[in-house]
Formats: sequence, structure tokens, C-alpha cells
Amino acid sequence: MEQLIRCVNCDEVFLKTPFDQSPEYEPPPGQPESYRVIQKDDFEDFLKLHRDHRLEPLTILKDSFISEGLYHDPFRTSYFKATNGKEVFLIKRSRQDIHQPMRYQLIYGDYELKLLRLEAQSEAILKQWSFEFKKNPSLLERGETFLGIFQKVLHSLRIDQLERIDEESPSSLDIYYRLDDIGLAFLLRNCRNRFKGKDYSEVEGFIYRHKDDGVLLVKATYQIQIHEKVKTKKEVIPSLLPLEKQKAIQKKKS
Ligand SMILES: [Zn+2]
Repeated sequence: MEQLIRCVNCDEVFLKTPFDQSPEYEPPPGQPESYRVIQKDDFEDFLKLHRDHRLEPLTILKDSFISEGLYHDPFRTSYFKATNGKEVFLIKRSRQDIHQPMRYQLIYGDYELKLLRLEAQSEAILKQWSFEFKKNPSLLERGETFLGIFQKVLHSLRIDQLERIDEESPSSLDIYYRLDDIGLAFLLRNCRNRFKGKDYSEVEGFIYRHKDDGVLLVKATYQIQIHEKVKTKKEVIPSLLPLEKQKAIQKKKS
């Protein structure tokens, strides 16, 4: 079991994993020596560093995990939230060196996902259009027209009303959504104005075939914004300090 531990005095955190006490991994045969996981003394080091400080366990809030960059990037920075039951903290996880363990940093504040852009999957739409209408010369040339209409519809969408789709994406900041009924009606109406007669029926068929699959899904790209709170000053006299030290601190303050 993983356990996140906070030093209340220093506001430093440590993620205790089952590896901390176990001996180093022996590298699997054929693996370079450098892949050894060296973690066994990290927790002891943390305890030594924060001897006589007040430590408390933090509970990680499920579903609060968010990452910058691509999933397979070992240097990507992640954020998640954790609580001691009274306060919620933001924890930043990062790594500078592949041979070093992850670093965890406690932040007073919260994150926000800011929408950067909403876009159509233009390439997929045009490709599918050419494929399906290759025997229909009057429509074949008009893929860009359809794309233009679709992009116009995107501006009318309210992202908080859309249904999120679990589409495989290399980044957790790229999220796919399905067109809602209002967006769909708007798309159909605009197409009816631009495509006539039998062409319109074809376009309508195209929309219904792809409204739920990858082609007509809407892609939203987000950015993580961190809002740091000004930490409220607290008078901490560590209760676990030896008495002489506590007196010395109090003397200094008065
Ligand atoms: Zn400490």
C-alpha cells in the first residue's frame, strides 16, 4: 500500500511505497545495471531529516490526478490532491533524473483546467469524406465545405454540456466529446442550407454514421493552471521538540 506522509513543520511530503523497505530490485537478466530501483533507504532518510517533527498521513483524493505531457514521458509532471481530513493540498509530482525517484512537492492551492481550444478532427473527416463519396463527384469536392460547417458548429457548443468519451489519447489534457443534440441539430440545419436534395440525404447519412465514432468527435485541449493560495501564517511550535528548544523558540519570538 502506498502512503503519503506530510511533515507538518516543513510542509514536505513523502510517498511511502512497499519498495521503501524491501531490498533493491535485482535487475532482470539482460537489463542494464542502471535500471535498479534504489529506494530502500529513502523513507529512513525522510524520517531522519524530520526527526522530532510532527508527521501526518494524507489521503490521496481519487480522480484528482492530472498530468502534463504525454503518458509515456517519464519526465511528465503530474498533480493530485490529498487531504489530512481538515485541509486539501495539491501535490506536484515530478522527476528530473530517470535514476532518481519521483519528487513530491506540497502546494497550498488548487489547479484548474483551462480550455485552450476546441477542434474538429479535420484530417479524419476529410479522409472519411473522400473515401465514402469517391463515387459521388458532386459531393467529393465538397469535403472542405462540410468541414467549414462543422467548425462553425463547434463555436456554438457549450463544453460543460457535452458528453465526454473515453477515447484513447496520448495525453490526459486532450479530451474527446460527443456532439450533443443541440450541436447535432445545428449541424444538420446548416448542412440542409448548403447541400440540396439527394446530396443532403447523403450528408445526413454521413453525420449519423460518424456522430459517435472518432471522426465527428470534438477534441478539446486543456492546460493546467495552478492557483497558489497565500499560506496563512501559523505559529507552530513543534510539540515534539525537546523542552529546551521550545523555550528557545519562544524566547526568540518574545
Ligand atoms: Zn520536517
